[in-house]
Amino acid sequence: MAILDIVTYPDPRLKNPTARVNEINDEIRQIVADMADTMYEAPGVGLAAIQAGIDKSIIIFDPEADKEKRNFSTLINPKITFQEGTMTSENEGCLSVPDFRSNVKRYARVTAEGLDIDGNPLQIHGEDLLSIILQHEIDHLNGILFIDRISALKRQIYRKKRLKALKDE
Ligand SMILES: [Zn+2]
Repeated sequence: MAILDIVTYPDPRLKNPTARVNEINDEIRQIVADMADTMYEAPGVGLAAIQAGIDKSIIIFDPEADKEKRNFSTLINPKITFQEGTMTSENEGCLSVPDFRSNVKRYARVTAEGLDIDGNPLQIHGEDLLSIILQHEIDHLNGILFIDRISALKRQIYRKKRLKALKDE
């Protein structure tokens, strides 16, 4: 069991697109296992590798976030291949954006495609919470945080508060 340190805003690593995974080997399997330990410990419903400072296009997620069941999915090199409808996520949050939550405009339904941990193609269709998680985590792989999808004013207020909190630490 390994709990990874979470990279937090405004760490510049969160702003960059992540590198594709070319081969699923023991290193990748270990990263995914450690990511799962970290996500359930937090607890969170999703995690992108870059949130642990690992520059790889990997996300994991489990809408139930049940530590006992550990029923999570892994998507490697995922992409949103279909999206429709709109909805507002209520009180969306992120382990990398401490002490802040906001409603965010999201697609109501998406399909994400990538590889599973065995290297097989995996297509996941999500609506409701799963749709939000897929959009949120795949955004991380493109260097986008959920606060990039709220108003500039709200973002500036959060940024100020966050920088002050970091200074006071
Ligand atoms: Zn996040």
